[in-house]
Amino acid sequence: MGSNNRHNLLQHSALKDNKIACLTLDLESDHSDLLDEPRYEGLEHIPELVAFLGEAGVPLTCFVQGSLLETHQGHIQLLTDADVEFELHSYSHPDVTELDTHLEVERGIEAYRKFFARDPLGYRSPLGIIKEEDYDILAANGFRFDSSIYPSLRPGVFNNLGKPIQPFRVDVTDIVEFPFTAFSSLIRVPLTVSYLKLLGWPYFFLIKTFPLPDLIVFAFHLHDLFRLSSSREIPLEKHSLVHKMAFKRIYNGRHDGLLILKEFVETLRRKGYSFNKLFDVYEAICLREEPVAL
Ligand SMILES: [Zn+2]
Repeated sequence: MGSNNRHNLLQHSALKDNKIACLTLDLESDHSDLLDEPRYEGLEHIPELVAFLGEAGVPLTCFVQGSLLETHQGHIQLLTDADVEFELHSYSHPDVTELDTHLEVERGIEAYRKFFARDPLGYRSPLGIIKEEDYDILAANGFRFDSSIYPSLRPGVFNNLGKPIQPFRVDVTDIVEFPFTAFSSLIRVPLTVSYLKLLGWPYFFLIKTFPLPDLIVFAFHLHDLFRLSSSREIPLEKHSLVHKMAFKRIYNGRHDGLLILKEFVETLRRKGYSFNKLFDVYEAICLREEPVAL
């Protein structure tokens, strides 16, 4: 694993005593690389998500798989009309073995630029996999922040147990990493809709009962929020028993993901959190906090 000496925790006085939550959606094909053939059924549920954002009065940051900006422009437009922040989530969301960050970043920017007529500022790598040298690629392509790191362990995929759970600046590149928020630095269970579905009410009980980090980056996919027929097409035989059980519970269980998201938002409100877009948080802690030269 990469060393930690390139990581500087941010002294974010703008966040001090402020409780801020960012809802982040990874907008991609259903179940990304888990299906043999790409399916896009989740996108049909965007109007329901937009309705929820309006009712709850919460902003959203969306990390979009770049190719969708070419193939599903009408769906993207529904989100841009709802004032959703758009950042990049690779171009083709390949599986781990085929991940070429250079290519994904460059093709992704091209697609983003054609749609939005500007460049993305934030990046999220597929599957939470980002190597130290990938930050150099992001910096060279004008990115200012990244939000890819799960603060946890996924055997054989990543081990981020030694990484900070708070935002940090990656030296030299100046990129700021916003890790997915974990429950705490000891209990490194990510705050995501999928973990809430997997662990159920005991996890919700902990979230409601105990203090959470001041800055929360909360993540979900459309396939976590809505029941999709494509969920039944995940070829389970390729996966371990533990994964099979987890997929069944998360995607084909009785839990209603959108309801879980609603309850999570209400819980954070009761705890005194306000909701922001990720770029606004970046700006508050990294741009406005710079010492002013006199
Ligand atoms: Zn993804």
